[in-house]
Amino acid sequence: MSAAAELLLETARRGELHHAILCHGPSAAALREVSVGIAKTLNCLNRTAGDDCTACQRIERRMHPDIHFIEVTGERKMISVDQIREIVAAATLRPYEGRNKVFIIDPANALSVGGSNSLLKTLEEPASDTTFILLTRSPDLLLPTIRSRCQMIFVGGEVETNDALAASIVAGLTRFSDERDTAALLGIASVIASQEEVSDAVALLGKVLCDAVAGRFPLSIEQAKLLAAADATTAAIRWLGVNADARMLVEQALAELVT
Ligand SMILES: [Zn+2]
Repeated sequence: MSAAAELLLETARRGELHHAILCHGPSAAALREVSVGIAKTLNCLNRTAGDDCTACQRIERRMHPDIHFIEVTGERKMISVDQIREIVAAATLRPYEGRNKVFIIDPANALSVGGSNSLLKTLEEPASDTTFILLTRSPDLLLPTIRSRCQMIFVGGEVETNDALAASIVAGLTRFSDERDTAALLGIASVIASQEEVSDAVALLGKVLCDAVAGRFPLSIEQAKLLAAADATTAAIRWLGVNADARMLVEQALAELVT
């Protein structure tokens, strides 16, 4: 765990944690680890940052009634407004058995505009004994109205690479380069849209395109087109935060290679 994460847990242990924190960093696993660590620290029966007491065990197994995990479900890749309405309602209740209700939104960049707006008032004035933890790769992916209501903490951690996906992107780009077959680009968009962490997958596409510009693997595609496509992936990641269709965004970005 990073020094920043350790400090965060110590702040939570002293009862001085802000009621809404935005943890950001490149590693989804590190973000999850620190969020669960905070939930344990706020509810551990022995007041530790996590041990084998029944509260910590139940948090670890996601069976603690006061710890809520709000995540992406189903095909949409977004957290629904209904999910947010549920947590807004749950946030008004007293804890069932713990000291502190914790709502972990993972990833917070999967909040739609509607969901974000539904959450604003609760984020600003939560009931006592309530903590919101928003996780994201980058605060830039969230609406400013959400960011401004949270204390931002950089958690650190290593960038996670998805070698299989990177290889699949390189294979698709190479096929397009060799055969000028746009079906190869549509295939890349389809694979990326099917990933669990779509914004991470789009970011990886951007990185692969930059690698191609730098000549790390050979493609007969003009550099200007590769750069335009890489730029378009950055814009696409922002649009993902406002509920846009991932496959369409990636197809549009890759269309820069064709025009
Ligand atoms: Zn414990």
